[in-house]
Amino acid sequence: MSGLLGAAEIREIAERIGVRPTKKLGQNFVVDANTCRKIVKSAGVGSTDVALEIGPGLGSLTLAMLECASEVVAIEIDDRLAQELPMTAERHGFDISKLKIINEDAMGISSLPVDPTVLVANLPYNVSVPVLLRFLELFPTLRAGVVMVQSEVADRLVAKPNSKTYGSPSVKAAWWADLTSAGTVSRSIFWPVPNVDSSLVKFVRKEVPGDEALRKATFRIIDAAFAQRRKMMRAALSELSEFGGSSSEASAIIEASGIDPTIRGEALELSDFIKIAITLSK
Ligand code: SAM
Repeated sequence: MSGLLGAAEIREIAERIGVRPTKKLGQNFVVDANTCRKIVKSAGVGSTDVALEIGPGLGSLTLAMLECASEVVAIEIDDRLAQELPMTAERHGFDISKLKIINEDAMGISSLPVDPTVLVANLPYNVSVPVLLRFLELFPTLRAGVVMVQSEVADRLVAKPNSKTYGSPSVKAAWWADLTSAGTVSRSIFWPVPNVDSSLVKFVRKEVPGDEALRKATFRIIDAAFAQRRKMMRAALSELSEFGGSSSEASAIIEASGIDPTIRGEALELSDFIKIAITLSK
C-alpha cells in the first residue's frame, strides 16, 4: 500500500486497535491527505531534516513527514497509537528505520535521541501552548515548524500588543521565534469532527534576545503583567518581591526603563518587558 492515510483506513485502524477518540487527549485525527501534505510543505520539511511530531495519533501527518524528511521522531502518549504507528508506516511502504516513536507524555520530555530541526504537530488543545513553549526552549536546533491548534489559541500566539487576544503566550513565544498565521483548517477534515475551529501557526526561530537569567526575569514580569491584565504595570509588578513589594518602587524601576508605569502590560512589546528586566538586574 502506498500513499497517505485516508478516512476509511483511519477508522478501520482505530476500530481494530480499540481506540475510541477521547476529548481528554484531544484526539481529532486528520483524515485528509492533501491537508497533511500542505502542512508538511508549509513547515518546509526537507530531505536533511529531522522532523519532530508531537501526538502522531494514527499517523496522518507522520506519513506525510516520512515522505520528505531524513528522519521522523514522534512522541505519543497513547500506548495503543504508539504501538500501531510503525505497522501503519510499514504497510504504506515507508522505511521504518527512519521513524523513532517515543511513547511518553510530551510534557515530561527533556531530551530526544536526535536533535530535531523542524516541528510539525496537530497539538492536543489542552497542552498546545505549554508544549510549544517547552519544545522551543528545550531544543534550540528546531529552526522552524507549523502547529495546528484551536483557532483561539492561534490568535493568541500571533497577537500583537493592544489586541484582545494579546497575552503571555504571544510575548513568550516571541522570545524564541517569529510566529505568523498560516491559515485556517476546515472542521470537516477531522474525525471525529471537533466543535472548535482549528488554525495553523508557522514559526521561524530567531536569535534569542538574551541569556537564560534574562529570559527567566523577563518571563516573571510577563506573568505578573498578564495575571490581572487590567492592572497598570506599577500595580502588577508591585506583587513581585524583586520590585520591593510597593507600587512606588515598581514605578521607579519601570520609569528608569523608559516606560510609563501607568501603562498596562497588554500595550507592551517583548522588548519593553526585556528593558524592565535589564533595569531590574542593574
Ligand atoms: N497527529 C494526528 C493527526 O493529525 O491526525 C493526531 C492529532 S490529535 C489532535 C492529538 C494527538 O496527541 C493524539 O494522538 C493524542 O493521543 C496525542 N496526545 C495528547 N496529549 C499528549 C501528550 N501530552 N503527549 C504526547 N501526545 C499527546
